[in-house]
Amino acid sequence: MATLFQPELLYADGQVQPGGSGLFVDADGMVLRTLAETQIPPDTEIVRLPGRALIPAFANAHSHTFQRLFRARAEGRKVGGDTFWTWREQMYRAAAFADPDSMYDIARAAFLEMALNGTALVGEFHYLHRDRNGQPYAHPNAMADAILAAARSIGLRITLLRTAYFRAGFGLDPHPGQRRFYEQPEEYLRNLSALAAQHSSDPFIHVGAAPHSIRAVPLPEFHPIVHWCRANGSRPVHLHISEQPAENEASLREYGATPVTLLSGEGLLDAQTTLVHAIHITASEMAQIARTRATICSCPTTERNLGDGIFPADLAAQLGVPVVFGSDSQAQIDPFEDARQLEYHLRLRDRERGILDSASRPGWAGQDSIGAALLRSMTSHGYRALGVPGGSLAPGEPADFLALRLDDLALLGADAASLPEQVVFAASRSAVDSVYIQGKPIVRDGAHSEADEIRTRYRKLQQRFHALSVEETIQ
Ligand SMILES: [Zn+2]
Repeated sequence: MATLFQPELLYADGQVQPGGSGLFVDADGMVLRTLAETQIPPDTEIVRLPGRALIPAFANAHSHTFQRLFRARAEGRKVGGDTFWTWREQMYRAAAFADPDSMYDIARAAFLEMALNGTALVGEFHYLHRDRNGQPYAHPNAMADAILAAARSIGLRITLLRTAYFRAGFGLDPHPGQRRFYEQPEEYLRNLSALAAQHSSDPFIHVGAAPHSIRAVPLPEFHPIVHWCRANGSRPVHLHISEQPAENEASLREYGATPVTLLSGEGLLDAQTTLVHAIHITASEMAQIARTRATICSCPTTERNLGDGIFPADLAAQLGVPVVFGSDSQAQIDPFEDARQLEYHLRLRDRERGILDSASRPGWAGQDSIGAALLRSMTSHGYRALGVPGGSLAPGEPADFLALRLDDLALLGADAASLPEQVVFAASRSAVDSVYIQGKPIVRDGAHSEADEIRTRYRKLQQRFHALSVEETIQ
């Protein structure tokens, strides 16, 4: 039976729909169209959502779930002032700790937090492939499967971006903290291909590739990975790029070109590519990215936590480069905060307001108001970057949506005219009432049915991790 979801406010197909409109969904959970009250066909189940705003659910395009394990435990400064090392040491500890069972519990806690924040789809950039000794598991995708099982237990869609990590960097010896990441190039492609085949019939699971960065994957090894994705159904290719100036400098030393210039010159970037971070790039590099039609994934809550720098989102908006968001290190899991920080970082940089308001910027590629533009980045751009149809509640798309409480104090007084800006600049998790994926609820009344069990198991795991010394985890 078809269902009509009837909220107080409905944002679908890129705009606020006229008052009284509902979202008409078929028995398989696919959007048929929006519908006025007077047009409701007989035999329609009506789900009334009074006092709620219904909007497309969010996509989190860049996640490393295992990094959740050391949230807020590497914020200080080591004697001597090396601010990055405290973080990296914790990262290697967490990477050394997780086995498939604990990975499942860590991922469930992270995915639960995402779901409660309105997320329906996550892109997991996954590189913990081997066991603690650096040996392949009997089932080489055991760790990936633990993450996929965790997403399934929450009800999330997931694109597993199986990550290639072949070396520590140009001219560097292998790093012991990275031994679980390394695979041989042929072995990587074999495991990627097996993972894709294993999950090809599950509509909630997609598989893509992630050559980690030009630092970790030398150019000759980049080509076959991109080629595999192009030859196997236009799968997404994600990679880290220009997060820190040192990465650009190393690329200049090795190849005589920055990563963006190198990869676009080699024909390795296209509309299936997502470049993660792209902070330290020039205007001419942004123009190269625009020509390839690649997407950029910005991770503002992580980038501010790590002190990476400010992503020039205004250059991207000017040239029409789509931007999506990721929670990356899980320093916070907060899609609302990521969206507004993209704009706020630029305000602090330029001491101006409304930077990303393309509608008021003659000559800019986009024509969206600031709220609509950022909402698109949180939703449909993210779906596309992860190779999943949907994200805007247009006819024919899956009914993946969330309902926000309009009586939440953060949103009190919100109306149709201000809805996109209210979502981006005012809302927080407390306003997320329910989350539906393909017409079925995974979050109701701000709660998930598995939450208590997930909390208990995660707390135990966290205690076990922190009881170990640095030597016990890393050695
Ligand atoms: Zn990352």
